[in-house]
Amino acid sequence: MARWIDGTQIAKTVREGVAQAVGLFCQKHGRPPSLHVVLAGDDPASAVYVRNKEKFAAQVGLAGTVHRLPQAVTEEELLALVRALNNDPLVDGILVQFPVPPQVRQSEVLRLIHPDKDVDGLHASNVGKLWSARPGLVPCTPRGCMRLLDESGIELSGKRAIVVGRSNLVGKPVAALLLARDATVTLAHSRTHDLAARCREAEVVIAAVGRAKLLNRNFIAPGATVIDVGMNRDEAGKLCGDVDFADVEPIAGAITPVPGGVGPMTIAMLLENTVIAAEARIAG
Ligand code: NAP
Repeated sequence: MARWIDGTQIAKTVREGVAQAVGLFCQKHGRPPSLHVVLAGDDPASAVYVRNKEKFAAQVGLAGTVHRLPQAVTEEELLALVRALNNDPLVDGILVQFPVPPQVRQSEVLRLIHPDKDVDGLHASNVGKLWSARPGLVPCTPRGCMRLLDESGIELSGKRAIVVGRSNLVGKPVAALLLARDATVTLAHSRTHDLAARCREAEVVIAAVGRAKLLNRNFIAPGATVIDVGMNRDEAGKLCGDVDFADVEPIAGAITPVPGGVGPMTIAMLLENTVIAAEARIAG
């Protein structure tokens, strides 16, 4: 039976560390780091994500505001808000919750957010830094995956790792982070031939696909570590990952459950990124 990698517990430890760092920052600079979230429109899932971010940000002592804009907001209005946040010296982190309403181009929003305040790590400048192993802000979910591996004592150097899914948000940055840690990385996607065989070759499998229970035991080598980023609904409407947990757990070496694996880490890493951004800006 696989060891469970407990994201809920690890995220709690991360938040405790962030709360301490926020306290130290306050002592040194007379104010806490601040996170500003922009929520445009009335997407119900986004509203839930933002409420959680707000709750945990307050819990660790970060300052900041959620800027709520109507569904009919124009692109210029949203960009004007981002510009104002860019120019405000008391704003350390800016996160625009995606998806934005259809009349607003996501690409323009990403382009405008100042890279030093880009706590989602999606600005092209931060993407470039990630791939060239220079310090920058790194996307939250990929950082969360790495932290789960590290906290579980999984050695990566020289290991064969596969990332299934090549999105800018998850798959590509996870691949870059694994590569930076000297894993030998395969980046698989919907056109990959014989995905199960490619996955069976890997000692570490990261699933970021968005297809309920796609990876069953035929995809996993005995003893492999499995990190499941997927958040899907099964036939019964229950939350599940990209990995068929019940089928894989008996043969894997270590595995993240869904829920309670990668999910809680994403917000914890956002809080940590806000402190990193604040400290880096002050250090100049
Ligand atoms: P995405 O942008 O839709 O990308 C999905 C990727 O999976 C694409 O690269 C796609 O390949 C690939 N793919 C689709 N079907 C496949 C198949 N049958 N075999 C192999 N690859 C396939 O999704 P995402 O934003 O990366 O998110 C992935 C999953 O993670 C979703 O379930 C999402 O909800 C979840 N997620 C969770 C968190 C969290 O905090 N836990 C955060 C972000 C995302 P192509 O490029 O060839 O189309």
